[in-house]
Amino acid sequence: MIVFTCQQCGTRLQAYDENVGKKARCVCGEVMRVPEVSETEQPIPAAFDPAPYQPTDPHPTDSLPTTTEEMAEQAQEGMNFGSMAWGFILMIISAIWFVAALANGRTSGSAAVLFFIGLFRVISSFQGES
Ligand SMILES: [Zn+2]
Repeated sequence: MIVFTCQQCGTRLQAYDENVGKKARCVCGEVMRVPEVSETEQPIPAAFDPAPYQPTDPHPTDSLPTTTEEMAEQAQEGMNFGSMAWGFILMIISAIWFVAALANGRTSGSAAVLFFIGLFRVISSFQGES
């Protein structure tokens, strides 16, 4: 993810790596090229929207991505929801466990393993048993 600042208004924008060199339009209307180097290594939550840029401004100007809603609809349409739900619960528990270990200055490998078990369970419930 490339993070850069609009020269015109100073709004911080972010773009996917594959959009380097492409033109991006800021919320203020200024058009600029996406730089090759991100301005900061500070992680910013990735957006679901495949648009070439995302303003970090919390007020969205475009329609919100519907990815999670579509996933929820698909889940209700005959997928193995029980298995997927258990996978999510595993992921949540392991995430809490991992953060708790991290708060004590440690990295919990067991929590990471449990997280991936939950993740694979979710993925396999998407693929199988149709
Ligand atoms: Zn701007």
